[in-house]
Amino acid sequence: MAEEPPAVRAEGLRKNYGRTAALDGLDLEVPAGTVFGLLGPNGAGKTTAVRVLATLLRPDAGRAEVAGHDVVRHPDRVRAAIGLTGQYASVDELLTGRENLVMFARLYGLDPRAARERAEELLARFDLADAADRRSDGYSGGMRRRLDLAVSLIQRPRVLFLDEPTTGLDPRSRLGVWESVRTLVAAGTTVVLTTQYLEEADRLADTVTVIDHGRTIAEGTPDTLRSRVGGDRLDVVVRDPADLSAVAGLLGSALDAPATVHREEQRISLPAPDRLAALTGAVRALEGATAAIADIGVRRPGLDEVFLALTGRDTDSSTGTTTDTGHETAGPVPA
Ligand code: ATP
Repeated sequence: MAEEPPAVRAEGLRKNYGRTAALDGLDLEVPAGTVFGLLGPNGAGKTTAVRVLATLLRPDAGRAEVAGHDVVRHPDRVRAAIGLTGQYASVDELLTGRENLVMFARLYGLDPRAARERAEELLARFDLADAADRRSDGYSGGMRRRLDLAVSLIQRPRVLFLDEPTTGLDPRSRLGVWESVRTLVAAGTTVVLTTQYLEEADRLADTVTVIDHGRTIAEGTPDTLRSRVGGDRLDVVVRDPADLSAVAGLLGSALDAPATVHREEQRISLPAPDRLAALTGAVRALEGATAAIADIGVRRPGLDEVFLALTGRDTDSSTGTTTDTGHETAGPVPA
């Protein structure tokens, strides 16, 4: 059997806004049937990339195919194969959830009966059946996002673009959207998702690409990216900044790992490849110490730390100059 072509293939995409290179030679390849995460800080070029791939914006240079069709030469074929959900819902707020779905289904050419059936199916799938007859301006943020997702699926797209699908949502609504996306993927849709959260990529994406200034700076799974910062971290926060060095020394020796001191946050951070061993080792090491500990725990690094490791810059300074992040690293102290 012939192998299915990639859902998305982009080579050397460029797009300038005046002197800003929003895309600066971007290459992407997304295998069909997978979830692909496009990660990057504000202004990295994620939305521009999605807009080019969804045929809403013409690239200045480079080429891209979506579902096997060229985005510049055959935008109509691309549009027939994709769905798109942006950061802002496109639904009509004066209509109910059901009316919105029926209206869009009719716009996409379904006859009245098929439109009604499709609306019912999507309302059930996105857990909106109980709210179907309420006007959507009364929906919560999560419900609106789910309605928006439902609208983008009316045509059963082969490739679905989700631009920051959970930005601004509370944790519970975010879980609901993730659940909906997983259902879609199980049914065979390829999903291209942009996000600023590595945690979101963890929950959803098979592979991720991190972009900065419109260019790829890293590719892999969320975990391979985390391994660039040494995987999970143990964090210890001290009450008195005067104790930072002593505690860093103790922890460095106990865990035989370099301790990074974040002076402003009064925090010491160490790699914790084995979460439990790191935590118990640290607690034991600190038992006899005089320093007062405000907090201790193991956590998974986010995009901020991965980005810092990759570029030497904070995510919030991605468009500006390099900032001094005030990190110091102390090696293990000999016993
Ligand atoms: P965000 O996470 O904030 O949505 P992003 O990664 O999606 O960011 P883009 O919106 O693609 O980034 O923007 C990439 C760069 O292009 C930024 O420097 C942005 O200021 C610039 N840009 C985007 N759209 C326009 C426009 N219409 N006119 C001028 N500059 C633009």
